[in-house]
Amino acid sequence: MRPIQATIHLGALRHNLEVAKSHAPQSRAMAVVKANGYGHGLLRIAQGLDDADGFAVLGLNEAIGLREAGFNQAILLLEGVFHERELAGAAQDDISLVVHHLEQVRMLEQAFMDTPVSVFIKMNTGMNRLGFRPEHYAGAVSRLAACRNVAQIALMTHFATADDSLGVAGPLAIFNQATRGMAYPVSLANSAAILRYPETHTDWVRPGIMLYGASPVAGTPAKAYGLRPAMSLASAVIAIQNLQAGDSVGYGHRFTASRPTRVGIVACGYADGYPRHAPSGTPVAVAGRMTQTLGRVSMDMLFVDITDIPEAVVGSAVELWGEHVPVDAVAEISGTVGYELLCALAARVPVKVVS
Ligand SMILES: *Cc1c(COP(=O)(O)O)cnc(C)c1O
Repeated sequence: MRPIQATIHLGALRHNLEVAKSHAPQSRAMAVVKANGYGHGLLRIAQGLDDADGFAVLGLNEAIGLREAGFNQAILLLEGVFHERELAGAAQDDISLVVHHLEQVRMLEQAFMDTPVSVFIKMNTGMNRLGFRPEHYAGAVSRLAACRNVAQIALMTHFATADDSLGVAGPLAIFNQATRGMAYPVSLANSAAILRYPETHTDWVRPGIMLYGASPVAGTPAKAYGLRPAMSLASAVIAIQNLQAGDSVGYGHRFTASRPTRVGIVACGYADGYPRHAPSGTPVAVAGRMTQTLGRVSMDMLFVDITDIPEAVVGSAVELWGEHVPVDAVAEISGTVGYELLCALAARVPVKVVS
């Protein structure tokens, strides 16, 4: 069996949820577990996050899967329903819906349902992805308030720039202005806003990436927020090549040795979810010591520099990301974000869950 393995640490998930809750102690926490729990496995991680007050997913099938697994918390479909025929199923399992578009209001008004469904009405405060524009918001809220198929109402928006220097002041002012006088629960904050903007800690917060122990803020390591990585991706050295100065490794000969160089070949490639864009110099740990990758990542293997790790042998453990190598560091040098690497863990990688 190839030595690659991902380990999911339920204790880290629990800890990170506590970090989110400690930042927003008055709020209920809706754990965002979309994209198969950010690549960690939906039902696997839901188990580690069962102290959450709710779960947010995209698909009705995921929501029903959580109910069938016995989770009784609030469950929210972040894009709502895509078709009227999903409404009855959502209502029956007490699954709440984001309503972000007039078409969804119309579906709710026209559906014949035994049970009403709860909704989170989404405002577009500048992201221009989903949601009603501020000037159309009150109209949508009053139609839904009058709709016989609607149970509870909550108000929400999503910030486009909570993680960078633009912050949330602009969209927050727009939201507050357009919802003035509305007496419904409110949900605003993603991870970045939870960590950076207490003024966004309303009735519900929606932590995602922070639960997995990666940072929502470029340039600030997750560790600085007291977060612990929930996933580690590990493999092993399966061969060693001794290069002379002038020898190159891998496709395209992207790395050429300038001195005698010991190269470890590691059983992990882009078909496992490791980014092909990771350049020579991407951090990696071999036999517990930090070093870097060399050359181009191939489908099933990559190269690591073990010149200064003489104890590294065939079989030595390699951490691609996890406790010693922050996934965000691998992401940054590869031109992406930790979110993408975690979500991209390939189905072929065996996963072990530890408490
Ligand atoms: C994904 C998502 C979140 C969580 O965002 P993070 O940056 O991962 O914390 C919160 N709210 C909505 C609407 C989302 O789509």
